Amino acid sequence: HPDDRERIRKAIRKEAAMGPGIFNEEFRIIRPDGIEKWLWAKTFPVKKGNVTYRAVGIAEDITSRKQLQIELERFKNHLQHTVDLRTRELLGLNQRLIDEIAKQKKAETEIENQLKFFRTLIETAASPIFIKDANKKYLDCNRAFEEYFGDKRESIIGKSDSELLPPEIAQRFESVDDALLKNPGELTFEGATKHFPPNRKEYMITKSTYLKSDGTPGGIIAFVTDITQRKKLELNIQKAFNKEKELLEIKSKLISTASHEFRTPLTTILSSIDLIDVYRKRDNLDKYYNHIDKIKSSVKYMIELLNDVMVINKTESGKLEFAPGETDLVELCREIITETSQASTRQTKIKFSHNGIKETVFADKKLLRLIISNLLGNAVKYSHIGGEVNLDISQNGHIQLTVADSGIGIPQEEFAMIYEPFHRGGNAEEREGTGLGLSIVKRCVELHQGKISFESNINKGTVFSVQIPIINI
Ligand code: ADP
Repeated sequence: HPDDRERIRKAIRKEAAMGPGIFNEEFRIIRPDGIEKWLWAKTFPVKKGNVTYRAVGIAEDITSRKQLQIELERFKNHLQHTVDLRTRELLGLNQRLIDEIAKQKKAETEIENQLKFFRTLIETAASPIFIKDANKKYLDCNRAFEEYFGDKRESIIGKSDSELLPPEIAQRFESVDDALLKNPGELTFEGATKHFPPNRKEYMITKSTYLKSDGTPGGIIAFVTDITQRKKLELNIQKAFNKEKELLEIKSKLISTASHEFRTPLTTILSSIDLIDVYRKRDNLDKYYNHIDKIKSSVKYMIELLNDVMVINKTESGKLEFAPGETDLVELCREIITETSQASTRQTKIKFSHNGIKETVFADKKLLRLIISNLLGNAVKYSHIGGEVNLDISQNGHIQLTVADSGIGIPQEEFAMIYEPFHRGGNAEEREGTGLGLSIVKRCVELHQGKISFESNINKGTVFSVQIPIINI
């Protein structure tokens, strides 16, 4: 075989040179029929004494063994190749697995970090937050919720509202949860409860359903907002608004009543002006002066009305403020008595007594003047001609002021309305008045943190009592 020829020739030459017995080879031959065969041949020296005098050889057809060997070799190579390939594949796979695991690890750490971040965020959030599972049991909550709920999370987690709260509240909360678990979404509601210490709290809760990866409801997450302060503020705003509204109503009533009240004196003034001209020309001085007096008293009435309206307006809009100062109460009463007597034609005797009144008290002179002059004015006005009125002030921890008359009295059915602006007694009609005096008095007493009361009997008389606290400075 051309491939083995050179090797075999070399072996033959070696044997020729070194003597028989060396040749020992496996090699191929090509038979004349072209078939290739494997042979194994070996030579042995044949010796006589020490002298090799010829060689013998054996040869064996080893074709089938050789083919098996070659097959085996090829199989081995194939196996080796496959093993190499698989090893390479495995190595690659392994690397990919290692990469994948590293990636996974990194992602996990990232998620863990994010979770940690969210936990911290939720934990430190100022709003109370809690999470419930699909069975409406608390899964977790944050610190703000613990504070809000007034209990540690260990006693909250794993429990449901019905185990933690009074039945009516638990039922209310759980019905919201039921609705959200049935129809996933979001719900916000407000409420108030005294079951969350300290005492009563107003809250707003926004609850929403969270879904599991398969899209079914996993539970409820809720954010609680403490709106106690906001509600308080709302209430104050509402109160201020109502007060403002009331004020506007009173003002518009004042304006309409006052303008209505102006009509009578203005008509009187106008007709009297027409008539004084006539009587002056006719030299009828009695009637002339009569109408001048009518004009004067109408103007006086209008000024009084204007003053009263202004005072009421001031008290309503908070402009008549409480401004106490050193006040000589006895002196003030004397002034008012003089003014009242001068203004009246009813010849009323005003008796004044003042027991234990210190020279000066610390009080609001402006308010006291309004109180005393209105009460005294009424007592004189509603007395019979020549009657007697008693003004009494005393001091005993507070200032006690009493104005008593023996006049027409107040009908019992009007007791409740006596302090209302523009209310005038049914028996007071022929006596001039605006119906504002007592409402001014009441407001002034209240501004002074005092109390007012009265007793009255029809045709026997009326006693008004006022108590004003003394301010110690
Ligand atoms: P006015 O005296 O201008 O009518 P007030 O507000 O001062 O208005 O008083 C309201 C009503 O109370 C009076 O119209 C009168 O009917 C009744 N009143 C007040 N003081 C007395 C009093 N001393 N005696 C009898 N009635 C009084």
